[in-house]
Amino acid sequence: MRVGAGASVRVVDLDGGQVGDVFAFNAADPTEFHSAGYTRARNSRLFPAIGEKFVTNRRRSILTLVADGSPGRHDMLIPACDPARYAELGVPDHPSCAANLRAALAERGITLAEVPQPINVFMDIPVTPEAGLEWLPSPSRPGDAITFRAEMDCVLVVSACPQDLVAINTGEITPLAIDLLPED
Ligand SMILES: [Zn+2]
Repeated sequence: MRVGAGASVRVVDLDGGQVGDVFAFNAADPTEFHSAGYTRARNSRLFPAIGEKFVTNRRRSILTLVADGSPGRHDMLIPACDPARYAELGVPDHPSCAANLRAALAERGITLAEVPQPINVFMDIPVTPEAGLEWLPSPSRPGDAITFRAEMDCVLVVSACPQDLVAINTGEITPLAIDLLPED
């Protein structure tokens, strides 16, 4: 969806335990987009905290985390699932977040050379003391929500992650609600 600067978007995990991939593009120039890498460098955190800015590949603020009613686990390390990932897992025709993103942007006439790394809301990938990564099931509860404010006019895409071969979602794949909130 298109989100004007100052407006907010709330992503709600209706049934709990569902990961969502959030992508944000500058509405005026989709070659500028939210970058998980630049955001990690900006905030020096594994998981985003309330009040923190998410920045683009040009280091400009695009979103702010303004509210979070979930346990606060929103992965910033793992790329979107894509057809190649499901091919590795033996199911090449499986739906994916990358394909969902490309389809959503195609409706706006936007094609991507690369799929940016998303904000993986409700996805819990902690670092172990040995510097390994653990893939844990989503800890979010039914009705948990996270709210982002747009810092520039942007195109926001949310994909309810269809990953059912690696246990990052709890139980079945379930829908996410996306509420556009007008400027305060
Ligand atoms: Zn996915």
